[in-house]
Order: sequence, then C-alpha cells, then structure tokens
Amino acid sequence: MKNKRLRNDIILSVALLVLAIAAWGVIRFTHKTGEFAVVEIDGKETARYPLGDDMSVEIVTGDGHVNTLVIAGGRASVVSADCPDKLCVKQPAISRTGETIICLPHRLVIRIEGESGVDTAS
Ligand SMILES: [Zn+2]
Repeated sequence: MKNKRLRNDIILSVALLVLAIAAWGVIRFTHKTGEFAVVEIDGKETARYPLGDDMSVEIVTGDGHVNTLVIAGGRASVVSADCPDKLCVKQPAISRTGETIICLPHRLVIRIEGESGVDTAS
C-alpha cells in the first residue's frame, strides 16, 4: 500500500515534469526571437531599431519626457526614465516577438517585432 502510493507520487512527478518541458517548448516555439525594437509613443510608431546593433537611445516623448532605451546583446531594455513610477526601468530586458516594455506615464511602448512584422499586420 505504501509502496504503491510512492510509485504514484513518482509517476505524478514525472508527468508534471514532462508537462513543464512541453509548456516551455511551446513558449520557445511561439515566441520567436525578434528582429526590431519598435518604439511607439501615444500609439504611433516613431522609430525602430535592429536588435542586432548595440546602442543607447534617448527617447523623447511628446511632452518632453525622456526614456533611455538600451539595446545590448540582442535585448532591449529601458535603463533610465524620468517617469514617477519607474516601472519601465524595472521591467526585464525583452528580446522575443510580442514582448513589450510599457511606460504608462509617458504613453510609451517598446515592442519587439520579427522581420515580417507581427501577425496582426494587415
Ligand atoms: Zn516609465
């Protein structure tokens, strides 16, 4: 009786592990590595930078606020900003299609797109 329960636990653990690996594979497959960091201010695209080029850019929003975007090693992140909440700075670097960094106070969105754009493009 005891052994049977132990075996069931092992089977459950293995099943969970397989599920976790499968989920990870699906995420890897659906979220492809992006090609561009697209900058949107107030819903309008203002610039796009290739993720392959390491750079640091100051994004000045319509009302004169500044977010510093850094692209390094194929990842984009906001390293500094003069917004009050600094949530955009705290967000981790993004590199995969569909990932975003949002600065709500500045109405700024940095989005990763693939070479052929997002699949919602029409
Ligand atoms: Zn911000």
